[in-house]
Amino acid sequence: MMTLFERSRAGRHSQLVPATDVDAVTLPAELVRELPPRLPELSEIDIARHYAELGKQTHGVADGFYPLGSCTMKYNPRVNEEAAALPGFAGIHPLQPEHTVQGALGVMHETAELLDKICGMDATTLQPAAGAHGELTGLLLIRAYHHERGDTGRTKVIVPDSAHGTNPASAAMAGFTVVSVASNDAGGVDLDALRAAVGPDTAGLMLTNPNTLGLFDPNIIEICKIVHEAGGLCYYDGANLNAIMGHARPGDMGFDCVHVNLHKTFSTPHGGGGPGSGPVGCKDFLAKYLPGPLVRKGDDGFELFRPEASVGRVRSFHGNFLVCVRALCYMVTLGAEGLRDAATHAVLNANYLLARLRDSWDVPFGDSCMHEFVIDCSSLKERTGASAMDVAKRMLDFGIHPPTMYFPLIVHEALMVEPTETEGLETLDAFVETMAQILAEAEEDGERLHDAPFNCAIGRPDEVGAARNPRLAHDFGEGAGA
Ligand SMILES: *Cc1c(COP(=O)(O)O)cnc(C)c1O
Repeated sequence: MMTLFERSRAGRHSQLVPATDVDAVTLPAELVRELPPRLPELSEIDIARHYAELGKQTHGVADGFYPLGSCTMKYNPRVNEEAAALPGFAGIHPLQPEHTVQGALGVMHETAELLDKICGMDATTLQPAAGAHGELTGLLLIRAYHHERGDTGRTKVIVPDSAHGTNPASAAMAGFTVVSVASNDAGGVDLDALRAAVGPDTAGLMLTNPNTLGLFDPNIIEICKIVHEAGGLCYYDGANLNAIMGHARPGDMGFDCVHVNLHKTFSTPHGGGGPGSGPVGCKDFLAKYLPGPLVRKGDDGFELFRPEASVGRVRSFHGNFLVCVRALCYMVTLGAEGLRDAATHAVLNANYLLARLRDSWDVPFGDSCMHEFVIDCSSLKERTGASAMDVAKRMLDFGIHPPTMYFPLIVHEALMVEPTETEGLETLDAFVETMAQILAEAEEDGERLHDAPFNCAIGRPDEVGAARNPRLAHDFGEGAGA
């Protein structure tokens, strides 16, 4: 496909604005560039076709099934987009006086309050811009708590080996040393390994429950107790609340602090770098450390305030406010019962797929699952040569976005399938059929699948090369200035 620069033809243009009727101003010479910027010269239809073509080469949740485990790609109702686009929300400035943005402050207040209710927490900041950013924020609260008590020897954060990669990374960024604990045969935290890991140097534990194998840890109360008895705090990675919202609350499981990814569970599309939102909720005793400002109800309406022992800002202004508008709209349109139903159906859909796939595919952990499950393609690869990557690439030919691959790390040829609640039976059945066909193809000639996908614009890009040496600028060739 051509770039806009390759489509460019000298002199072609698409300005539709009328000629200016005010006097032109001449800028001081030092502000004027020597050469005009080399922008592509295109007609409007060239531009429209360029972006339409690009759009056809991507896959979004409105194009087809997107069973991306851990990162919940579900359909986000359009009404929430419309709410976020209302001029009263989209057109305000973060430095406006409080009395002129009472509605927006009200949105923030109610969003935080509802998240508190859903998570079983007492106070929530909306500042963090993503899940990993929320983790860092939560860990800063935990550090502040220990330090204020003079307990400065707590330098270690315990993370199970099934954890999302951001957990150990965030712990390291917050200045902690990471201690990994093994999973048991059932895929949960090994209690003996945990007991052996905790001690006077334990700052806390980071845990996802259900974990990245899609399993709810039945020992969760005991796990939190072990950490608390050692003097540590418990951090819940709630990036994915899709399995438990309305059913179980991190606060009731014993967690002190949690982040939630609004861009996974609460109706903001994600991928491509944002914007996201990773609000952090905590129990009362940690609330004074939260980043400020927070919103509270004062005598004259909503007002901003800074908690007394705040760890400071973690982001400019108030986070990605419009993501919060979408989340609030989502929560109030579904209501408590609707959120609960969404989780119920997310779990039901995952179990339906698991039940239909497990006879022919290897699912090493769990007879049933929560919102996702992990297929292991190791034996398939041994038998036929076709890897998890090959299976995933072949799915592209059927208009299916591949599941998350090679994660969690404890399953070597992992395909992590999360259908979500927004898919109907026909889509799930079609996926089962596609999986059966791919399996048959692998059994017949596994090596051939190394060349999949066969019908896509791009087959197997050099992903490492693209990440390490991205070509981000058009090459104008020799001697091209500016
Ligand atoms: C997505 C995810 C994260 C990280 O969230 P980002 O918004 O991508 O930073 C952390 N933990 C789990 C379990 C996740 O699925």
